[in-house]
Amino acid sequence: MTLIAEILAIGDELIHGALLDTNSKYIAGELERIGVVVHRFVVTSDDPAQLRAAIVDACSRADVVVATGGLGPTLDDRTRDLCAEVLGGPQWFDPASWQQIMDWMTKRGRSVPDSNRRQAMFPPGATPIANPVGTAPGFAVTIGRARLFALPGVPREMQVLLEQSVLPAVAAMPGLTPTAQHWLRILGPSEAALGDRIEPFMVPGRNPAVGITATGGLLTIRIVGTAESRAAAEAACAATAAELRPLVQQWLFAEGTLDLPELVVQRLQQRGHTLALAESCTGGLIAARLTDVPGVSAVLRGGVVAYSNDSKQALLAVPAELLQLHGAVSEPVAAAMAAGARARFAADVAIATTGIAGPDGGSPEKPVGTVCFAIATPAEQRAWTVRIANLGRTFVRDRAVFEIWRALLAT
Ligand code: AMP
Ligand code: MG
Repeated sequence: MTLIAEILAIGDELIHGALLDTNSKYIAGELERIGVVVHRFVVTSDDPAQLRAAIVDACSRADVVVATGGLGPTLDDRTRDLCAEVLGGPQWFDPASWQQIMDWMTKRGRSVPDSNRRQAMFPPGATPIANPVGTAPGFAVTIGRARLFALPGVPREMQVLLEQSVLPAVAAMPGLTPTAQHWLRILGPSEAALGDRIEPFMVPGRNPAVGITATGGLLTIRIVGTAESRAAAEAACAATAAELRPLVQQWLFAEGTLDLPELVVQRLQQRGHTLALAESCTGGLIAARLTDVPGVSAVLRGGVVAYSNDSKQALLAVPAELLQLHGAVSEPVAAAMAAGARARFAADVAIATTGIAGPDGGSPEKPVGTVCFAIATPAEQRAWTVRIANLGRTFVRDRAVFEIWRALLAT
């Protein structure tokens, strides 16, 4: 057994379709990493009755509740009020938190409205959590069986407080089973073929546990170990990884928990290659994802979104005859786009995408979801076509981006 957590995302904007709750995903990933098992996400409005019920329920089921949102200075931010109400006591004023709020505001040349005083009020028995990156301090308090951590909703503030205060506090709670993870990233075999190869490791109850997850063509062998200490759990995972490695060596392209754009940047850097992008149907998504990665400037030379035939010709020197003969969505055009980007940006490697994201523009020969790709490297020039399922523009474009990560990692 280990600690059980629930995550409580608070705010009207989250349930009215205005904003996606991304905080819960982040918090869950961080909690799972230290060995907490997350049982439930609850997303609730700012309505007092709803919020009160959500707090009471979560705190009756979980050992750890991480709440995010509802700590602002205005009256519709009610997390602290309702925690105090549930605890049946008055809020107290913390002069140290108030001083930090005033310092933060005055340092930025802002006046300090009296409404901000609310942010220095805390439920009975709460421990304030200082916020070095914003005005709203968080707090920790025990409600029911749970230790509840209330954090701001602003993602960056939430992340800093989680990292600095919440994770260390949770890691020190009794009942937490120290956990470690190790991932092997696999490209090539089918999930079934990989499963056959490592079958003996996947028996239920094994520690470290070994499982396979598939995300559109990329497989991850996830090794999760528990032990009496974090170091022992890490050592157990490393030992299992060492046993698995020879079995999957031919398909293994990375280890660790980096995500795909990070791996791509790392891979290019290891090879000493620079990259250029020629994007049509992905509309800059590849550039956007790559530029999320700190340090990408070491490898990314640049890219163009060449959506029209004219811009494919003007910016990427795609010959007009190719466009006429084969159409914009064709392997020859994709290849010419990659070659054009490679030359234009003087890069070692270039990739290209051109496809039909839908809902219109499909034909019997080239239905919606048809995407042509190309890669040009010092060693090869290659173009290929993938028929992505017609499940909407977002799906088609996201799968196209994924195909590019695969191609860049496989070369
Ligand atoms: P709050 O602390 O409730 O005033 O939230 C401040 C801002 O943070 C909101 O206006 C949103 O832009 C953002 N935010 C709040 N909760 C979340 C969440 N669960 N996921 C992503 N962004 C959020
Ligand atoms: Mg709010």
